Amino acid sequence: MEYTDTRDNAVRVNLKDAVLSGMNPATGGLYIPVRIPKLSPALLERCSAPSFRDIAFEIAKLYCSDVIPDTDLQAIIADCYPFNTPVVPVDPVTYVLELFHGPTCAFKDFGARFMARLMAYFNRSEKEPLHILVATSGDTGSAVGSAFSGVDGIGVTILYPKGKISPLQEKQLSTFTGNVRALAVEGTFDDCQRLVKTAFTDKKLRKTFRLSSANSINIARLLPQSFYYVYAVLSVKCRSLHDNKIENPAIIAVVPSGNFGNLTSGLIAKEMGAPIAGFVAATNSNKTVPDWIASGRYEPRRSVPTLSNAMDVGAPSNHERITAMYTDDEVKKILAAYWTDDNGTLEGIKCCHERTGYIIDPHGAVGWQAWYDIRKGAMLKLMSGFPNKTENPGLTPNIPSWAQNVLDNKAVGILLETAHPAKFGETVKSAIGREPPMPDRLEKLLHLPDNSVPMKNDYREFSQWLKKNLQ
Ligand SMILES: *Cc1c(COP(=O)(O)O)cnc(C)c1O
Repeated sequence: MEYTDTRDNAVRVNLKDAVLSGMNPATGGLYIPVRIPKLSPALLERCSAPSFRDIAFEIAKLYCSDVIPDTDLQAIIADCYPFNTPVVPVDPVTYVLELFHGPTCAFKDFGARFMARLMAYFNRSEKEPLHILVATSGDTGSAVGSAFSGVDGIGVTILYPKGKISPLQEKQLSTFTGNVRALAVEGTFDDCQRLVKTAFTDKKLRKTFRLSSANSINIARLLPQSFYYVYAVLSVKCRSLHDNKIENPAIIAVVPSGNFGNLTSGLIAKEMGAPIAGFVAATNSNKTVPDWIASGRYEPRRSVPTLSNAMDVGAPSNHERITAMYTDDEVKKILAAYWTDDNGTLEGIKCCHERTGYIIDPHGAVGWQAWYDIRKGAMLKLMSGFPNKTENPGLTPNIPSWAQNVLDNKAVGILLETAHPAKFGETVKSAIGREPPMPDRLEKLLHLPDNSVPMKNDYREFSQWLKKNLQ
């Protein structure tokens, strides 16, 4: 498979170059496949649904076979995904796709683990180790650190703003050992990012060390996220007649979104032929994309802090990939857009719990609110000519091609639950009166020693530390 770039479609690179460089340094564009391969009819029509790892391998082969032999790829997939991806029915027309069973309890494990193993694979014939520098405000750092933990030939340095992330997030970062180290920077997230960026432009440092980033825009983080869409829709397709007596339902993926990587992966799954009728793009008050769907104007802005903080993105970088794949009119046929504020998020946790008994995290709750509101009247109102005003939380005035299926009770939703609720225990408690149970792998962290290295917000000190500690 060849890859091109969102800013120059004459560009051609192979997967190895796309993964190791992250973005095209010449254009600043993001890599996308030249064409999206189709899944085989044999896979799509199988009932019962194949296992997650079988699907992951089948799909990965389409993107990697020219640079990774099957046996190696199979080993990579097995090493990436030793955990499950349950599809849990919570009410007659809603399934929750639990993406939090990886080591850091958030869906970013799916992308980060695949990227880490591809980087290690492509780097294996190099004599010098590769050093990854990441600045993080929370989730990304722990997923990346955990994904590279124990991976040969690669070292990771994570910079995080000391005291400015949740105590549990700080535990997740400060307890890494071995090839992954965390620096607790006296400063903000922006300061961390500045230190990393300065290191990347430091010619002397780059002469001594091979540096790389583990950016969320890397194509190797996007592709594997399509695996679980295909897995989930095939599972639902096989069982929905039994679960809800709907023959051939229109399957809608409801995606709590920030940087829109997860949603872009869903679009890739749909283009591969997965039977997804459409998507709900659900955001918090960072509603750049809902506003774009409503007005046709794309206006990136500064982010505002919310309870679903991993979705606090005002300028989602994957907008560029979405518009490279589709025209605005095509996007509007596929997507319903919805946004809600912190009150709506708390309401979502409460409503989901009251109606189904399921405890959802604040990110998933944004998606729950969207799907609940859409099927309980918001889509009907919109189609009857009474659209919600975009300044108010709710459904964006856009009627996607699948809207009538909702009114006819022929649609089922798959809600992507992107984090374990115990990561946001306080918020969940304030909505439903009790904290969710803590999974063992989070509980264990609380008792591990803090190995973080204190770091001043000062480039000289940072670069000296790198010179002394990277080898
Ligand atoms: C990163 C993240 C999101 C947003 O995903 P995008 O791909 O950036 O849209 C949602 N929920 C959680 C828990 C996350 O960590």
